Amino acid sequence: MKIGILGFQGAVIEHQRHIEQLGQEAVVVRYTEQLAEIDGIILPGGESTTMGKLLNRTGMMEPFREKIQQGMPVWGTCAGMILLAKELDQDPVVHLGMMDITVRRNAYGTQIDSFDTQVVIPEVSDEQIPLVFIRAPYIVRTGERVKVLCEVERHVVAAREKNMLATSFHPELTGNAAFHQYFIGMCSGK
Ligand code: GLN
Repeated sequence: MKIGILGFQGAVIEHQRHIEQLGQEAVVVRYTEQLAEIDGIILPGGESTTMGKLLNRTGMMEPFREKIQQGMPVWGTCAGMILLAKELDQDPVVHLGMMDITVRRNAYGTQIDSFDTQVVIPEVSDEQIPLVFIRAPYIVRTGERVKVLCEVERHVVAAREKNMLATSFHPELTGNAAFHQYFIGMCSGK
């Protein structure tokens, strides 16, 4: 399987390592044409405003939307979740706008803007998964077709809508590959 990782900036290499360790090919995506050769794509954590601008500047935004519409699996981690959201809370900006969620940026404020915890997410694995949050967003509204996968302190931090997966946290910054395995499953049609 060829798994793309949007390669403008952010935690690209970390995702690449996990994908390769699971025996799949990782492709760093920077050009529109590359969208044709991948089975799914990860939008990494980083800075959503910058990534959104680069998606527009490279002309990738619209073809990207079409691919997602056609069913290409996509997983947004942190800033990637912000890129996927149909709506941001108290913010008129919309990037890809494909997933029926409303997302609050920097939702944990400045005091505790980075923290980690461990949870069991039955849809993903029977074992505990470490979650790392860095200036993380969370989901404040989920549409009817969105399945909540995980809540931490009553805030939705992982969700799936058909071919779209969004996580507030960064599985690529931990040694645990459960989410990458789950996404590879999505790319093989699960
Ligand atoms: N706060 C960042 C943003 O709004 C996301 C942080 C991250 O991806 N770790 O883009």
